[in-house]
Amino acid sequence: MAMNPIGRPTSPNTDDGAGGGFETFSGSQGLMQQEPLLNEVGALDKCGVDFASGPAARSRLGGMERTAQIGLPGLSEPEALRHYVRLSQRNYAIDLGLYPLGSCTMKHNPRLNEKLARLPGFGDLHPLQPQSTTQGALALMGELSRWLCAITGMDAVALSPKAGAHGEWCGMMCIRAALEDRGELETRRRVLVPESAHGTNPATAADCGFTIDELPADATGRVDMAVLREKIGPDVAGIMLTNPNTCGLFERDIREIADLIHEAGGYFYCDGANLNAIMGKTRVRDLGVDAMHINLHKTFSTPHGGGGPGAGPVVLSERLSQYAPLPYLTSDEDGWKLIENQEDVEGDAKPFGRMCAFHGQMGMFVRALGYMMSHGADGLRQVSEDAVLNANYLLARLQDEMSPAYEGVCMHEALFDDVFLKGTGVTTLDFAKAMIDEGYHPMTMYFPLVVHGAMLIEPTETESIESLDRFADTLLSLAKAAKDGEVERFSQAPVLAPLRRLDETRAARSPVLRWQSA
Ligand SMILES: *Cc1c(COP(=O)(O)O)cnc(C)c1O
Repeated sequence: MAMNPIGRPTSPNTDDGAGGGFETFSGSQGLMQQEPLLNEVGALDKCGVDFASGPAARSRLGGMERTAQIGLPGLSEPEALRHYVRLSQRNYAIDLGLYPLGSCTMKHNPRLNEKLARLPGFGDLHPLQPQSTTQGALALMGELSRWLCAITGMDAVALSPKAGAHGEWCGMMCIRAALEDRGELETRRRVLVPESAHGTNPATAADCGFTIDELPADATGRVDMAVLREKIGPDVAGIMLTNPNTCGLFERDIREIADLIHEAGGYFYCDGANLNAIMGKTRVRDLGVDAMHINLHKTFSTPHGGGGPGAGPVVLSERLSQYAPLPYLTSDEDGWKLIENQEDVEGDAKPFGRMCAFHGQMGMFVRALGYMMSHGADGLRQVSEDAVLNANYLLARLQDEMSPAYEGVCMHEALFDDVFLKGTGVTTLDFAKAMIDEGYHPMTMYFPLVVHGAMLIEPTETESIESLDRFADTLLSLAKAAKDGEVERFSQAPVLAPLRRLDETRAARSPVLRWQSA
């Protein structure tokens, strides 16, 4: 296989015999262009633009000017453009096909919201503009806050966190501030976290200085109440619980869990990443939640965008509202005000600090509010109902050939284990790679950790029944092929992808972050 100087395979998969073995002279596959790295396209001593050099000017850099080469390849505009267009063609995207990644809620991003976010009044704002000139944007943030509080029934919202994980951190810092205020931060160190939790939960609790105590799941995939009762004590700071949980199941005992935690003097952090299953159906406040992040890029359809920009506002109960971070929004007869500094804080507010330079992801606020207002209250409820319906439709269609991890209906995602692959020589990873050959992004795999060889499928409400059927037919055919002994189809997969199986462990453990010329 052809390698570039940093050991990355450069040619497509045609040269190892598995994919039919057709090797092209160019390295391209049909009209899918072979694409080297930018450093391989451009040369370091090449200049991409052809401005005439200007008249000699006196340097004002005081001897600070660069003398060595900058080390970036020079590229012409078409070279640079083609590079990124070619890469974009290799991307899988929600605009391209079904994206069944469980826990991630990869739903369609309505184009109306893109249009709204580009309105010059929102798109061209600068965060340092005087607030008197940004009243419309602040009013939009106020309206978004109102919707988020209405949907969840909570008392306040912190808008600035920029991802779900960032929101978790915000919520746990509010809990920390409340404990400190009570003089109990030193004695309450323990945070209970179910072992099925998303990895960001224990990471957040640890980063906020707590110790993590794992809660096992019971046979139905929910919190084991007997163990919970044993673990609760006066040193518990709180619990971080996802509902519906990462097994796609509603935590039926959630009220009792909240009561137990509150009676013990702790706080209830709810991971709200799965709000798409319950919005308009269940009021988060009624579950006894003290803090919960809402991933606007999941439930409210704003683009996930290659790891960002997300937005993770946190709704807070009355007990925690006063600790919400700076900056926060208020209004009086003079209009909207963003409280930026500790010395401007009024009333009983005691912000724990500040999480980011500015107020949060304005573009995502516009999109999310556009989504909410175009759906309306009834529409948002229907989103949840349809998301749950679609997941159960897939569960029903797949359950005879694949093995559901738990009995009964699911919420917005269907979880399977690898029991149906037992004795076939095919693993969850192989199965997922074979899906790529079939034109599907794999589902979430090996998560949650409580299920062996987990496959977590979340279709979302934006897929039609035809799309779900095509997907189900494909998975059923793959499951049958595995059971019929067609191991090659799986062990070699993906055969049709631009690159085959990459050494992901090596990429993660020893990443090569810097271009080294040959
Ligand atoms: C996505 C997710 C998170 C983290 O959210 P990010 O926006 O990716 O930081 C946390 N918990 C659960 C259950 C999630 O699905």
